[in-house]
Amino acid sequence: MSSDPIQLYGLGREGLAEALAPLDLPAFRIRQVFAALYRRDCLDPAHWTDWPLALRQEIARRFVIARPRIAETRSAPDGTIKALVDLPGGGQVEAVAIPAERHVTFCISSQVGCAFGCTFCMTARLGFRRHLEAGEIVGQVAALRALTAASRETYNIVYMGMGEPLHNLQNVLESLKILSDELGPDLPPRRVTVSTVGLPPGIRALARLPRPPRLAVSLVTADEERRRELMPVARKYALEELAEAVREYGRGRRDRPTLEAVLLEGVNDRPQDARAMVALARAARAKVNLIEFNPTPELPFRPAPEERIEAFLRTLAQGGVVGTVRRSRGREVDGACGQLAFRRRAPGTP
Ligand code: SAH
Repeated sequence: MSSDPIQLYGLGREGLAEALAPLDLPAFRIRQVFAALYRRDCLDPAHWTDWPLALRQEIARRFVIARPRIAETRSAPDGTIKALVDLPGGGQVEAVAIPAERHVTFCISSQVGCAFGCTFCMTARLGFRRHLEAGEIVGQVAALRALTAASRETYNIVYMGMGEPLHNLQNVLESLKILSDELGPDLPPRRVTVSTVGLPPGIRALARLPRPPRLAVSLVTADEERRRELMPVARKYALEELAEAVREYGRGRRDRPTLEAVLLEGVNDRPQDARAMVALARAARAKVNLIEFNPTPELPFRPAPEERIEAFLRTLAQGGVVGTVRRSRGREVDGACGQLAFRRRAPGTP
């Protein structure tokens, strides 16, 4: 009976040691494989020229080493690039590179589709298809790095693409370990942000990592009733438990967790919403990031008017809460927050 060859890309140090055990390699060879995969992005054993030829051939014969590949890209005038990514395990996700003056942010996906059904998000409309493997997550970073020629020092990662990272907990944790490994990309945890709809058990699991990333929670509103209407997940976890998990996460860290709120006109941009947000942010010891809503004809919401955004920020400041605004990037290519849903423009439109 023959079985499918084992896919090495996505395995951590332990997984590699286990998979390669039949070859009886010394430990340094395992470390070399890890570095080839995740630091050097050199996936073809034929190019591991410091290895004996027979060994390279044996690796190539017994294993598959495949990472996600970019199928197609679209560039927005502001330099944002949305990439459609083919996954080794089948199917596609979107990933986005968002350049700023001195660095570039890679926004990566953790699932094909999403199970959470947030009413203002296009990805929700796809429904849930599957979890990504750790290698399908880490490999998006490698693919975007190759695309943008970003050096190791100049990129950040946000788990804010398609899917809910803490719903795919084990694979996301594994991907974080690989990304922060000193033999791999060696990304400092402060340059990695995991954004969640707000799953307290997942937040607590994230906090137990040796090098926990930054945490962002898509609170959207501190009005419990409204939150339940906008985000079905809020029916499962009360705001109080969520605030407590966020506060715990921030304990002993220098960087405070962030509460994100995509501001929808007349829904969560009112003065009382800002006041409720102050109270919650203080309870959670968090800062607040207001997100410009990216409207689409399919969704029954409008972006909050500029003066509402500014009034919201003033209320936060008066309440002693650090508040910022995330201006929309990449909207022209449907690459902005909440827009990742494989949509194509009709041919001929700009
Ligand atoms: N599931 C994770 C990560 C994906 S969403 C999470 O919910 O955090 C990333 C961010 O985009 C979230 O803060 C979400 O509230 C925001 N978002 C969703 N739809 C949006 C839209 N149409 N316009 C702007 N932001 C949106």
